[in-house]
Amino acid sequence: MAFLSEALGRIKPSPTVGITQKARELKQAGRDVIALSAGEPDFDTPQHIKDAAIEAIQSGKTKYTNIEGIAELREAVRAKFRRDNSLDVAIEETFVATGGKQVIFNALMATLNPGDEVVIPVPYWVSYPDIVLLAGGTPVFARADAGSGFKLTAEELDRRITTSTKWLILNSPSNPSGAAYSAAELRELADVLMRHPQVHILTDDIYEKLTYEGTFATIAEVEPALYGRTLTLNGVSKSHAMTGWRIGYCAAPVPLVKAMAKLQSQSTTHASSISQWASVAALNGPEDFLKGWRKSFVDRRDRMVTGLNAIEGVECLTPPGAFYVFPSIEGLLGRKTPKGRPVETDEDFVMGLIEEGGVALVHGAAFGLPGHFRLSYAASMTELEAALARIGDFCAQLR
Ligand SMILES: *Cc1c(COP(=O)(O)O)cnc(C)c1O
Repeated sequence: MAFLSEALGRIKPSPTVGITQKARELKQAGRDVIALSAGEPDFDTPQHIKDAAIEAIQSGKTKYTNIEGIAELREAVRAKFRRDNSLDVAIEETFVATGGKQVIFNALMATLNPGDEVVIPVPYWVSYPDIVLLAGGTPVFARADAGSGFKLTAEELDRRITTSTKWLILNSPSNPSGAAYSAAELRELADVLMRHPQVHILTDDIYEKLTYEGTFATIAEVEPALYGRTLTLNGVSKSHAMTGWRIGYCAAPVPLVKAMAKLQSQSTTHASSISQWASVAALNGPEDFLKGWRKSFVDRRDRMVTGLNAIEGVECLTPPGAFYVFPSIEGLLGRKTPKGRPVETDEDFVMGLIEEGGVALVHGAAFGLPGHFRLSYAASMTELEAALARIGDFCAQLR
């Protein structure tokens, strides 16, 4: 009898974590590698948030909390959704977990049965299909490639929905492409969804605050009639540079909140009390620091898009949000590296580049779309310039 579960056998370890680890190992072995593979802001958590956490520790807010989150944080979550997204969320419709990832995990584990389908636009965040598989559901991939600006179209969505579709996952701005849906584009998707009442929507809005062009929109705001079957996911990881604090939150229908609480009561119980108090300060506090962060991200994005497009064989769109670019490298496949490594796939390219070029990126196939790579520009301009020069050299030497 096998020791490891069949469920575990259905999934693979996170490739983004894997490549970042490989870069770390090469560095430890004395190699010079610039890692642009991780998905987190390079800024520090703002001081007023750190202060709130220290205060929580000092005042003994270090005990078990409600499973769904402390009342103060749920109230701050409600206020955030009202303020930023015009969503009239009740306290009972809010829920806090150990990172946005655990909200997704809870929601899918609590709802999926074998045969249930989840429509996932491609390219996708690496965790969506694997969590669906772990929960026993079936991912159904929908095309959202460069041809449509890395966005799902209404026609493609309609084509992928069946009577077994339980969820559609949306992510805007997107990891890995940085694409973001306008209200008008969400309107078109909403019109399709209105015709399919069996489909629930999980919208991953974690990059909301990192929107540079256009106005951020979320589907329950665009079509209030979908509110009752939408889970609107957000978190402080990206908006407040708090990846390590592990706080995600959502607005969701009460029966789903109750189901997620039941599941979480038998796993992590609740998110860290200290991080929850820090997140109260984050959500209720000033957001002026974001202006500087956004400016800095836009400068870096523009430098990378220009630099990458200047490399023969690389084609890069200008994404309106998040901190990634997702260029095509199809023009470079079928060649060999200076050391004779064949570069037949995007994974070969990324492996060759880390070994011979000293830059760590993530291959597009990890996000379901081969022929591309994801570069995170959440790094200093100095590192980005150096990486750009190395990528350029590496590409020029492919024969
Ligand atoms: C970073 C990220 C998350 C959530 O991260 P947590 O740290 O678990 O809150 C969710 N979705 C996407 C697309 C992300 O990039």
